[in-house]
Amino acid sequence: MLIDSHCHLDFSCFDHDRDEVLERCKKLTIETIVLPGTQANQWQKQIELCQIHPQLRFALGLHPYFLNHFEPAHLVKLTKFLEQYQSKVLAVGEIGLDTYIEVDWELQKRVFQQQLMIASEHMLPVILHHRNSHNELIRILKTTKFTQGGIVHAFSGSLQEAQTYIDLGFKIGIGGGITYPRANKTRKTITQLPLSCLVLETDAPDMPLMGKQGQRNSPEYLPKIFESLLALRKENKQEILQACSENVLLSLANL
Ligand SMILES: [Zn+2]
Repeated sequence: MLIDSHCHLDFSCFDHDRDEVLERCKKLTIETIVLPGTQANQWQKQIELCQIHPQLRFALGLHPYFLNHFEPAHLVKLTKFLEQYQSKVLAVGEIGLDTYIEVDWELQKRVFQQQLMIASEHMLPVILHHRNSHNELIRILKTTKFTQGGIVHAFSGSLQEAQTYIDLGFKIGIGGGITYPRANKTRKTITQLPLSCLVLETDAPDMPLMGKQGQRNSPEYLPKIFESLLALRKENKQEILQACSENVLLSLANL
């Protein structure tokens, strides 16, 4: 059994063939696919898709990419949805900081902190987005004394950075990045991490695997990411498979 801990299957690029993609995933024993939230006007669609397809589950949050459209009412709506769906929602996310986008840095930090606070109030973990922002993310997690943990999605970075997140109660999301030999640092980090912190993800439709650049990524490629992980680890296939699924169940709520 495989779990894709991070996949944007609610995006419109899957509207024409979502059912077929899910059918293929089932055949590949991908039993659960987590849809992280990105923006307030998309949450309803995520929830409805999860009602139709039992293998889909959702998290709700405001992704830094879309904060140019941010309104304080979105945080009010987030709180309302978390209360309404408290027995279903897996986490607050994806939330975080990204230095590559043209979104005001102070705004990103403020909305990130506010969402951490909301997650704490609802005793929920978070799904973290990072891009060239580990130092600030870690600083804020520490100063806000956030203790609910969660998943650092699409981790890339050093062993020390990964270890800091693990100490803060996070699991480490392993995605298509590891299929690229040039991702030396991250691949080396992954060989050294405890198996108890690894979770698998595709981040589809983003983060295409090596050889599929420029194409829509899909949750059905999760087994290929698993194979790349297998090649980097010394444990056997069954052990890794079981650990990666169990780790997702341990890191998210309501699963
Ligand atoms: Zn994502």
